[in-house]
Amino acid sequence: MQAVIDKLERTHNLSDDEFAALLAPISADDEKYLSQRACHVREKYYGKDVYIRGLIEFTNYCRNNCYYCGIRRDNAHAQRYRLTAEQILSCCHTGYQLGFRTFVLQGGEDAYFTDERLCQLIQEIKRRHADCAVTLSIGERSKESYQRLFAAGADRYLLRHETVDKAHYEQLHPAELSHSHRLQCLRDLKEIGYQVGCGMMVGSPGQTLNCLIKDLRLLQELQPEMVGIGPFIPQHDTPFAQEAGGTAAMTVRLLSIIRLLLPHVLLPATTALGTIDPKGREKGLLAGANVLMPNLSPTEVRKKYALYDHKICTGEEAAECVRCLAARVESTGYKIVVSRGDHITKEGLYHANQSHPNPRTDHKAI
Ligand code: SAH
Repeated sequence: MQAVIDKLERTHNLSDDEFAALLAPISADDEKYLSQRACHVREKYYGKDVYIRGLIEFTNYCRNNCYYCGIRRDNAHAQRYRLTAEQILSCCHTGYQLGFRTFVLQGGEDAYFTDERLCQLIQEIKRRHADCAVTLSIGERSKESYQRLFAAGADRYLLRHETVDKAHYEQLHPAELSHSHRLQCLRDLKEIGYQVGCGMMVGSPGQTLNCLIKDLRLLQELQPEMVGIGPFIPQHDTPFAQEAGGTAAMTVRLLSIIRLLLPHVLLPATTALGTIDPKGREKGLLAGANVLMPNLSPTEVRKKYALYDHKICTGEEAAECVRCLAARVESTGYKIVVSRGDHITKEGLYHANQSHPNPRTDHKAI
């Protein structure tokens, strides 16, 4: 197996059979070798730095009805909320003082947030925090809308593809959502010039080994700057309430594979991984991940953004989260830095929104 791992590191490619072998149960020695190679590659480009992103879950209204998601339209038990612009700006203010230089605005697909409202908000965040990056994670929109948001100063966009296998996509989503539209959105975002993140849920109902191999092929083709993966975790008010969840072991394995596939990728150890395993985020960092996305949302709304059950860090203040995470990161031998943490291109240059050049902040340790 080590020869296969070496091949992946060297060529960033494997045959389907080799991917399948790497995703099947492997020996503890092979597992260790895989994560060591992934960490080696990550350190080659990003050193020991861990980038933090302040996640602001600004609305849980959603027009969509994804079968897995707790904020789906038909979940009458979800207590809906929407943060005001002032509340969002106040989260950014708190986050800035805690050392965040990226803010991620994530939410359901909420029609209240028109291009106009979002552009105003993005511009105001940029005006107040010129050295920060803004990442959006607000689902599918038209190319024109993505263009306007980019022109307003948004730097990055997270849109997980969830699964690239069409039949599997249709198992996870109602017919009103289309697999091809999701992929088109990702291509549009890339074309516009965003740093783009896609990714899949690990262990979602109906996912086969073949689905995962196809997902890896999509990553090869799209060459996203970021990849967000996390285990599927059932949510009690969704049609998938009784389904089995994904595992930490498979998620961690995939993080290492993705690091070797896309050496420069920005790869978060997600909150979902930390939810199913108390040491999940540390394990993710030790498998090749280099990003953490702590919650900056006001404490009073955190429990309401219940995509899945038992989500961690819903009771703490942002400052407590950062202290706790800093200790966790230190235990891995890595360190959280105060930095936008942009993607490094193959040429070693930072990939920033050219319409809004932003100074790169020093990589100060906190
Ligand atoms: N509405 C936006 C972003 C919010 S959802 C969008 O569609 O992109 C963010 C991510 O949470 C989703 O892409 C999905 O991968 C993940 N997610 C949703 N429900 C989940 C669950 N039950 N378990 C694990 N991850 C989930």
